[in-house]
Amino acid sequence: MGRAQNYDMDGSADQYAVVGHPVAHSLSPFIHSLFARQTGQSLTYRLMDVEPEQFAERVRGFFAGGGRGVNVTLPHKVRAAALASELTERARLAGAVNTLAARRDGTLLGDNTDGAGLVQDLTVNLGMPVTQRSILLIGAGGAARGVIAPLLALRPQRIVITNRTAERAAALAAVFAGLGEVQGCGFGDLDAQSFDLIVNATSASLTGALPEVPAGVFRADTFCYDMAYGRGDTPFVNWARELGCRRAVPGWGMLVEQAAESFRLWRGVRPLTAPVLTALAGRATPAG
Ligand code: NAP
Repeated sequence: MGRAQNYDMDGSADQYAVVGHPVAHSLSPFIHSLFARQTGQSLTYRLMDVEPEQFAERVRGFFAGGGRGVNVTLPHKVRAAALASELTERARLAGAVNTLAARRDGTLLGDNTDGAGLVQDLTVNLGMPVTQRSILLIGAGGAARGVIAPLLALRPQRIVITNRTAERAAALAAVFAGLGEVQGCGFGDLDAQSFDLIVNATSASLTGALPEVPAGVFRADTFCYDMAYGRGDTPFVNWARELGCRRAVPGWGMLVEQAAESFRLWRGVRPLTAPVLTALAGRATPAG
């Protein structure tokens, strides 16, 4: 695999950024700087704090000025999908974009690497099989939507989407019904069901809260994954352990794996993620 071109005609390094609001807490510049060093790529990667009304103008300006790619985070992922000239199939299904890449003709390709990141972390890094397993996905926001198709592609026995606002879970299940066994319901409808894998895709952990699903959904051998991450264990991870689950992990691996997928799209090389996870574990990090 050839090394991607690193310098523009004027000798400046290729430019990348993460666009969000707020975005100061983002670890993406740190992660991508480690990927670049590891793969011998010369690039710059910066934070862009952009308010929703300015998203299209600022991102277009970044690319017009020679930018090669951006990661997109809250609250802009749906706006980014509208800005792209073309979407990958997984971004189209997710209805949201977390990665924009400039193409040779100046148009933008939109991708969503969140689902691939989760699947890679679960199945490769953590050794949790998905095929033929029963999955409870808690939450029906953008992150949940982005991971449903990649999980269904691994042919789980079923996915139950549950959400505080039950209608959103039902609506999401209806979108993906053609891809596999998927149902949507409210927290109160879960009684007497337990699962092999529970993925918390709510933002509850960010405020120290817990999604009020019945404790009975957890078994000792239920694998619990919280997409949220932060200093120490998240409230959801702690709760799962208190309920007796032997394996409960925060979403650091998904964060690094989705970043590696973005890096591959931009640079044509997939960096090793294990050294970056180790570096993150050794770094005092703010909640995010
Ligand atoms: P979002 O679109 O704002 O959706 C938030 C979801 O959380 C909704 O389903 C909402 O339910 C639910 N929720 C919020 N507070 C709750 C509470 N107290 N109890 C129960 N449910 C609650 O957010 P998102 O983009 O999907 O992000 C969700 C989480 O995933 C965040 O923590 C984010 O940091 C994380 N994430 C991690 C990665 C990673 O790489 N590790 C990648 C993407 C996202 P309602 O519909 O009822 O409001």
